[in-house]
Amino acid sequence: MGMATNPDHATRPDVLAAIGNTPLIRLRRASEETGCTILGKAEFLNPGLSVKDRAARAIVEDAEARGLIRPGGTIVEGTAGNTGIGLALVASVRGYRTVIVIPVTQSEEKKQTLRLAGARLVEVPAVPFSNPDNYVHVARRLAERIAAEDPAGAFFADQFDNVANRGAHEAHTGPEIWDQTGGTVDGFVCAAGTGGTLAGTAAALRAKNPKVAIALADPEGSALYAHYTTGTLNAEGSSITEGIGQGRITKNLEGFTPDHAFRIGDTEALDIVFGLMRAEGLSLGGSSGINVAGAIRLARALGPGHTIATILCDGAARYASKLFNPAFLRERNLPSPDWLDRPADPLP
Ligand code: PMP
Repeated sequence: MGMATNPDHATRPDVLAAIGNTPLIRLRRASEETGCTILGKAEFLNPGLSVKDRAARAIVEDAEARGLIRPGGTIVEGTAGNTGIGLALVASVRGYRTVIVIPVTQSEEKKQTLRLAGARLVEVPAVPFSNPDNYVHVARRLAERIAAEDPAGAFFADQFDNVANRGAHEAHTGPEIWDQTGGTVDGFVCAAGTGGTLAGTAAALRAKNPKVAIALADPEGSALYAHYTTGTLNAEGSSITEGIGQGRITKNLEGFTPDHAFRIGDTEALDIVFGLMRAEGLSLGGSSGINVAGAIRLARALGPGHTIATILCDGAARYASKLFNPAFLRERNLPSPDWLDRPADPLP
């Protein structure tokens, strides 16, 4: 580490040491509307620009510690994109290759970022987990094939069922939020894809104070809201948000139960994303909108005066052709603010 007197200014041995320790930012409008202090953890500031860098680093370090991966070996993963971007950056620092299996429906921006990060991409149709051609199963089989053919071996990262993912948030995200709020945090809320962020952060905060209220913010089309409110894995509707929603209880979610669960539609989430962009200088992706909507619901459930933290998972640039494309939004009957359409101003 460097000689800086302020630990925030110390040099880092490599980019992996720049993952985490993200700022917790007060969200003005959400706080004013609810009389609570609503804070967003700026995960879009990680080196791979998303919350998933934390899981990627933890999964690779765990595999190294358990002897599951060798120099020159290949990391294989099925991912909506952000985990793959995190894994690709960890792999390039540590000397591995990356092969990413991604559903065709994910944004072009994420696919391009993966290619630039050096990952090989395998695009597959978006089919449910019960179908053997689902991206997670394709990734697992591909890892087995590469392991059989390449002497350097292959490792299936398995973010959904590899609890090193949850462990990253239990070891870092949760304790960071606790410290950053000086132990005053009353509630934590976020959506679940793998469930690593939600279950891991919740475990750390509950260990510090069992009274911290933990909430799930679930998009339409996910089965988790029904699971935690009625005990059935029923999914209804759909969402344009990426990386969140789940149809099963992953290993990262096993043993976890939220105190509250909210179901949030795209219109409500997008309105928040657009508002944060225009009024608070925060350029965020769709899952951050679901999370902040969830924080507002939790604030209303707890009442004024509480401190609630959530996750700002990734940035708007990753979704320019979707969430910020008026034609894409109109086709789906979603709100498209007029400033998105506005041509460049002429010179005055
Ligand atoms: N938001 C985005 C944009 C993501 O890519 C992910 C990861 N799938 C999440 C939220 C959810 O995080 P987790 O996998 O920890 O549940």
